[in-house]
Amino acid sequence: MIQFTRKTRTLAALALSAAAIASLAPGIATAQSADAAALKQEAAADVDAHAKMIQQGVDSLFSFAEPGFQEFRSSAYLADILEKNGFKVTRGVAGIPTAFTATWGTGTGGPTIALGSDIDDLLGVSQYPGLPYAKPIVEGAPGHGEGHNSGMPMMIAAAIAAKNVMIKHHIPGRIMVWPGIAEENLASKAYFVRAGLFKDVDANIFAHVGTSFGTAYGEMGMNGMVSVEYTFKGRTAHSAGDPWDGRSALDGVELMDVAWNFRREHLPVTQRSHYVITEGGGQPNVVPGEAKVWYFFRDRTFDAVRSLYDTGNTIADAAAMATGTTVSRRILGYAAPNFGNKPMAEAAQANIEAVGMPKWTADDQAFAKAAQVNFERKVEPLHDSVDPLSTPENRPRSIGGGSDDIGDIMWTVPTITVRYPSNIPNIIGHNLTSAVAMATPIAHKGAVAGAKAVAMTVIDLMTRPQLLADAKAYFKDVQNKDQHYDPVITASDTPAIWLNAEVMKRMRPEMEKYYYKQDKYPSYLDQLGIKYPQLGTPPKTSQAPADVTDAATRPDAGAPDPSRVGG
Ligand SMILES: [Zn+2]
Repeated sequence: MIQFTRKTRTLAALALSAAAIASLAPGIATAQSADAAALKQEAAADVDAHAKMIQQGVDSLFSFAEPGFQEFRSSAYLADILEKNGFKVTRGVAGIPTAFTATWGTGTGGPTIALGSDIDDLLGVSQYPGLPYAKPIVEGAPGHGEGHNSGMPMMIAAAIAAKNVMIKHHIPGRIMVWPGIAEENLASKAYFVRAGLFKDVDANIFAHVGTSFGTAYGEMGMNGMVSVEYTFKGRTAHSAGDPWDGRSALDGVELMDVAWNFRREHLPVTQRSHYVITEGGGQPNVVPGEAKVWYFFRDRTFDAVRSLYDTGNTIADAAAMATGTTVSRRILGYAAPNFGNKPMAEAAQANIEAVGMPKWTADDQAFAKAAQVNFERKVEPLHDSVDPLSTPENRPRSIGGGSDDIGDIMWTVPTITVRYPSNIPNIIGHNLTSAVAMATPIAHKGAVAGAKAVAMTVIDLMTRPQLLADAKAYFKDVQNKDQHYDPVITASDTPAIWLNAEVMKRMRPEMEKYYYKQDKYPSYLDQLGIKYPQLGTPPKTSQAPADVTDAATRPDAGAPDPSRVGG
């Protein structure tokens, strides 16, 4: 039950301007006479009534464990729920098979509010939930080592709650629900924008898993980025017999990397750039005829990202010239810098404070502590209070960092990111340690709390025309004052939907054995035979705890990323 300890606004008390009143659709009359706090109480109660649906969704997506562009099972699961709840689903939008939009509305009048969250996971971090030590479900398979399995079940519950309140109180408006695809590759949302998915949307709320409950506005200190693969082509020859007849594509790649690393000293301190060689040739005695290197170029502003990209292209061309090879490039992803909307963030913050943190049990705290101790992380209890609103004034000065392609939507319509508390403090991002809580009561309760705050903010946006007007004014006059949306992708770029296809073709048959059967087991932990909370250390041999099947433990895998901020 929500305690509305904070100041709550009633619609009756709102000083609606004459213009705002004139713009209201007829149906709002009922809502105006109702108390806004009461409407929000109803929405929160509706979310509580859907707690089982949230738990099943969180656990199901965890078990499907699909990486970017391969979210077929997850996407179908979520779209089906929305369809059953009266949303009109359009599948395969923006040229991406796993993307969809789901809309519901009262017809004419009122705003259109979009709700989205990511659903993809990470390669190589398969992990049992509910165990405070490393143990893959399927060795080498992808896993939810960040927690993207929780966002969409939460957003769908919020959408249904808002919808039910709107129907009951004749509040006009529309809701559009959308899943974030391939966020870990930063590879979809620029295409959502280019395809016009948000052209009729007035405002958007995004949600991302975290260990705290809060939101932010202004320039968020994250980097924009472009992801680009360079393909060098040379000429094969016998590496010993007649190397002078060959031109090594790998030489092109290596020279590009060397040149980039020399140039790095003379780049802005806010930039981040990194690469992997995705193809380096076949065997040493054949001069490599083809080689590929994949770069991420990141910086704080649109211009700075474009400048890094231009520098990379120049260096690639120079490396090709020096090695007698040719080079071509294709963009695999793009993300705009992040910028949160102030009026929306203030409204959401009030709702976050009204909802408050989930009621953690001693078991939740014990499991969180066991995970922190066993993974040798700083021990800190699950948070018991929400975060203050994060503002440009109270945030530390940013020197750049990670990226999130929600940025592209943030520069298209007024948008905020709500962080909800479904994970354990101080664990490692993009790592199996971030997976262990993500199909436990900690994740479930965090998502229920998040859904309430989002549903209540949707009601604010639907019933307070001045809030939406303020959000749009901030977007136009403050956010767009010095910069405008200027993505690097062009009309000829297409979503990199082939990414991760090969790994899933190989892994899916084994992973399917572990899909959550929600009609048979109350929870995924029940299906796996894991009693909550497990507080033990890793078994010394490969024997599994209780009913947990197969697979030996393995050493901690995955790269540490203590300052995880997006993909
Ligand atoms: Zn994420």
